[in-house]
Amino acid sequence: MPKPKGAVTIIIERCKGCGFCVEFCPTKVLELSNAFNSKGYHPPHVVAPEKCSGCDLCGMVCPDFAIFGYKLPATAAPSSELRPEEATVPAAQGGNS
Ligand code: SF4
Ligand code: SF4
Repeated sequence: MPKPKGAVTIIIERCKGCGFCVEFCPTKVLELSNAFNSKGYHPPHVVAPEKCSGCDLCGMVCPDFAIFGYKLPATAAPSSELRPEEATVPAAQGGNS
């Protein structure tokens, strides 16, 4: 399974169940859940986390600021891809410590 490039935070109690985030997500990460929040709306939930790019289109279309997409930090390059000069720590200068 590919690693997700992004993730979303959903503030369930702010949601009014309009479904804009579900409709506009380009990679179909979200669906409205069957659960209710305390206002009686169905908030979205994540059904395909591996497809999230963190583009935040869901957050831009949400009229209630109830969802936010964000990029996840890229994983560090494997050490075999480092050139020797990138891995070398410069020698300390001076010596009067
Ligand atoms: S951040 Fe982008 S890809 Fe992720 S759920 Fe929101 S709209 Fe979809
Ligand atoms: S766009 Fe916002 S208010 Fe509408 S369903 Fe998604 S999270 Fe809820």
